[in-house]
Amino acid sequence: VSVENINLAEIIDETMSFLRKEAEYRSVEITTAVAEGQPDFKCDRGKLQQILLNLVNNAFQAVSEGGHVSVTADSPDDDHIRIQVSDDGCGISDVDRKRIFEPFFSTKTASGGTGLGLSITYGLVHKLSGDISIESTEGEGTIFTIVLPRDCGGG
Ligand code: ADP
Ligand code: MG
Repeated sequence: VSVENINLAEIIDETMSFLRKEAEYRSVEITTAVAEGQPDFKCDRGKLQQILLNLVNNAFQAVSEGGHVSVTADSPDDDHIRIQVSDDGCGISDVDRKRIFEPFFSTKTASGGTGLGLSITYGLVHKLSGDISIESTEGEGTIFTIVLPRDCGGG
């Protein structure tokens, strides 16, 4: 178990720094915004990074060239943090939405998606006693929202 004190802005910057090259290559714009004055929280850094990487990778794959991916974070209340990964990509149909957290469900047959990213992400979020939700409109984009307790425990 590797629980650390984590600064919200720092972990988002650090995780996005792994993805800058990929964004450039895809001509996708990334913006990040973290609400000011967020106290550190306790979480497993590796798990949180894996969650963010999976969501941002999916967002990259959902947008076309010139698309936009945004990562924002704040606190819905004193005991929780919230991170949102939004894109202006293809969106998710109501039919697919019911299945996206299932292992091996993928609509990326041509590009060889494994369909494991979101099932792993779902498992990690719940290990950290958090929750994940989706808002999506086909042809407009998708927002994934993660809410985690300020003290996630080790998972
Ligand atoms: P994979 O990316 O390998 O297909 P995932 O488990 O990461 O597998 O995602 C499952 C499916 O959920 C994707 O194939 C896609 O249909 C859908 N999906 C996930 N994220 C997004 C997104 N940001 N925009 C549109 N569809 C998405
Ligand atoms: Mg994926």
